[in-house]
Amino acid sequence: MCGTSWETSAAALFQNRFLVEPKPCPVYRRVLVKLSGSALLGRQSFGIDKDVLTRYAREIDSVAQAGVSVALVIGGGNIYRGVRDASAGMTRAMSDYMGMLSTMINAMALQDALEQRGLETRLQSSIAMEEIAEPFIRRRALRHLEKGRVVIFGSGTGSPYFTTDTAAALRALEIDAEVLIKGTRVDGIFSKDPEEHPDATRYHRIAGEAVIQRGLRVMDMTAFTLCRESKLPIIVFDVNTTGSLLRIVQGERVGTLVHWEGHADA
Ligand code: UDP
Repeated sequence: MCGTSWETSAAALFQNRFLVEPKPCPVYRRVLVKLSGSALLGRQSFGIDKDVLTRYAREIDSVAQAGVSVALVIGGGNIYRGVRDASAGMTRAMSDYMGMLSTMINAMALQDALEQRGLETRLQSSIAMEEIAEPFIRRRALRHLEKGRVVIFGSGTGSPYFTTDTAAALRALEIDAEVLIKGTRVDGIFSKDPEEHPDATRYHRIAGEAVIQRGLRVMDMTAFTLCRESKLPIIVFDVNTTGSLLRIVQGERVGTLVHWEGHADA
């Protein structure tokens, strides 16, 4: 009921003839959500876990239903990771292109899952593959978002030697997103790797400069620098916790917020 008058809301509630708790209004108008390909593995060792995909789609749906304009970038680590194979002797650029193609497989799976829920979506690819995706055209992407469509950006940046985190930062800036929300396996940014150190503490809020000074890993330096230059806030959260994405867009403190105000104060 965000943006409607009290009378309209009350009338709608009366007509529904049951009591509905008013939903908190979203604090963001437009967000870019980066989902890791690796998280799509779920309990599998390879490919896409259907349950995880369905959960992702449900979470994204809830945010779109809340009236937030949503764009998505998804990684490809569950299928192919270019850097790893390049270090095993493959030509780096070739390997990276294969990595970018793997992001398209995930992007298509996500598009399908979202459309099965009734959401209107568009998939744009940074590498031409017109039978399955539109080319990436910024102004067209903006138009889709204005019409309430969920836009998925596949194929990373379209260039080797980059990552999907960089693609996420780049596209977030291009579409004027207010925040880059990065879904990971852990609930935010910790003082140490929480998967190895049980005594690691989580930051609720941290300055970007402190992330650099303390050598904390949020995303690769290219992606992070892009956010830093444009003061684009980043929220890191656990993608496997149901409801977190909606709570984030409703302004709740979930995961860790990286901000660009001031210096290295955490
Ligand atoms: N990649 C690339 N350029 C890009 C984005 C991705 O070359 O702009 C390649 C790179 O090899 C990377 C792979 O695609 O390892 C899959 O992306 P990423 O590892 O970022 O996926 P995630 O870890 O998020 O699943």
